[in-house]
Amino acid sequence: MIKVKAYAAQSATSALQPFQLERRSPRPDDVVIEIAYCGVCHSDIHTARSEWGPTSYPFVPGHEIVGRVIGLGKKVKRFKAGDLVGVGCFVDSCGKCPSCKSHEEQFCQGHTVFTYNSVELDGKTPTFGGYASQITVKDKYVLKIKKGLALERVAPLLCAGITTYSPLKRYGVKKGKKVGVVGLGGLGHMAVKLAKAMGAEVTVFSTSPNKELDAKKLGAKKFVLSSTPENFELHAGKLDLIIDTVSANHDFSPYLSTLKIGGIHVLVGAPPEPNQVAAMALIYGRKHLAGSLIGGIKETQEMLDFCARKKVLADIELISAGEINEAYERTIKGQVKYRFVIDAKTF
Ligand code: NAP
Ligand code: ZN
Ligand code: ZN
Repeated sequence: MIKVKAYAAQSATSALQPFQLERRSPRPDDVVIEIAYCGVCHSDIHTARSEWGPTSYPFVPGHEIVGRVIGLGKKVKRFKAGDLVGVGCFVDSCGKCPSCKSHEEQFCQGHTVFTYNSVELDGKTPTFGGYASQITVKDKYVLKIKKGLALERVAPLLCAGITTYSPLKRYGVKKGKKVGVVGLGGLGHMAVKLAKAMGAEVTVFSTSPNKELDAKKLGAKKFVLSSTPENFELHAGKLDLIIDTVSANHDFSPYLSTLKIGGIHVLVGAPPEPNQVAAMALIYGRKHLAGSLIGGIKETQEMLDFCARKKVLADIELISAGEINEAYERTIKGQVKYRFVIDAKTF
């Protein structure tokens, strides 16, 4: 076992504090990674606070992990010491079911082993996330990162990047398409950059009037202040696709009104409570309400390569581990620009 410094929550109401955990020594197909940076996703906060159901404590969050290979199992051929690598939201799956065979391990019909608050395939060993100095991961679930990029700005691609890239790709975003992005936070700002890089015209819907200038700088053409209902009228029937990243309860109906006939409103934001939608908002115009969960390993690698090619990286605020609780409060208030990333040297 390898002793590793980390940060953990001990209960749904306690602040994150320093914690020591043990990672397994590498098995023949494992990669040992020295973590350089870990992004702070709103899912970390939902889970730390048991907002999606009871979490197992101690809980070590973090699934936007980048670092360097420092150890290898003897069967690993894809990596060598010093390689830059990433780990996202899951670290194992059955590998045999139809979902795994079709590169959608996030929907494994056996058991997707999520990076945190999950158990290994043995059904009992808990998983701990990337708010830590090291992690050991099976090589098939480790992503390759190209050299020459600002590594701290790559970290958020491992969740925020793939979660928004996947539905943009699935629904055919390209030049000539009009994409709406709801909520300008970690996922939202990546959705804007990625949709723009794919050639789309982007409209941002935000509750924060002070984000208008940023939305335009990130690549949006239009900005709609969503707290004023009349603002939606101007945009009625205009969009092909909406990526909804909002982390709190909201009514979908006004957004559906901005879709073209047959348009698609994809939920990636996962508010803990059920939301509202008027049936008529879907019926008139044959609209679709859909969901999307991160992406498989193959698609995540494709996204990382796309981002390297197009120079699409997250806009981040680098913090030390000791600043994590304050960062959570600012994220909940929608005040992060646009992703907190922890410098793993500070664990
Ligand atoms: P985030 O950085 O906190 O961004 C969420 C944004 O939603 C905020 O910046 C804010 O944007 C808007 N918002 C917040 N509260 C709101 C409210 N009460 N009403 C309307 N808008 C509000 O969070 P994130 O890390 O991007 O994650 C967003 C959500 O996606 C979370 O629920 C997270 O768990 C989920 N998630 C899902 C997946 C998946 O695979 N489906 C993956 C990762 C994360 P404005 O200030 O612009 O309004
Ligand atoms: Zn996430
Ligand atoms: Zn499977």
